[in-house]
Amino acid sequence: MSRRSTAPSQVLARSVAELPRGTLAQLRSQARRCRACPLWAHATQTVFGEGPADATLMLLGEQPGTQEDLSGRPFVGPAGGLLDRALEEAGLERAELYLTNTVKHFKYEPRGKLRLHKRANAAEQQACRQWLAAEVASLRPRLIVAMGSMAAQALFGAAFKVTRERGKLRHLGDGTTEGLATWHPSAVLRAPGPGRVRLYQELVADLRVAQQRSRALRTLPAASPAA
Ligand code: SF4
Repeated sequence: MSRRSTAPSQVLARSVAELPRGTLAQLRSQARRCRACPLWAHATQTVFGEGPADATLMLLGEQPGTQEDLSGRPFVGPAGGLLDRALEEAGLERAELYLTNTVKHFKYEPRGKLRLHKRANAAEQQACRQWLAAEVASLRPRLIVAMGSMAAQALFGAAFKVTRERGKLRHLGDGTTEGLATWHPSAVLRAPGPGRVRLYQELVADLRVAQQRSRALRTLPAASPAA
């Protein structure tokens, strides 16, 4: 049975009305039955986060794509392959990170045999915020890297622009957890020609900042402010 609290999450830009409580495994199980917005109806399954329950660093994406929908795991499609390469270049081990998405179900438009990715709307994003808030409350990451505007705005608010403000460490609403925004791997894949190379290099550079900061945070007490 779900255990819920009315306590808002202070880490995210917007609070949630009800916060599901439990271990990550319990939350994953609860989220399988979520019907809080219409997206569950046409998706294969909930794509919940995955990674160690004591991870220092959370990587936050936007919403699952078709491969994630079929496998039930985040970042396994082409964008996941690019992310794996960028993580390796930045000196980060995927197995040590907690990876999740802002919205947990695949949204798409059928086009013949294809399922074309469609962005979750504001109401769907807000409905799903409860699961991200619950993951953050359970995991208590020291640093969250938001990839793409949907994820960045979940952390830093609706006015945040990845194009202007990526790559900078900043404190989140609770005053202790830190956040950093960067490009989503899908945006790198979509960028044409030389732009793709530049975005990829910026993604790797931002992940290096996260790698160095998360390594430093592991040696500091939990309430220490950013350097
Ligand atoms: S997208 Fe999120 S809020 Fe909507 S049904 Fe899926 S888990 Fe629930």
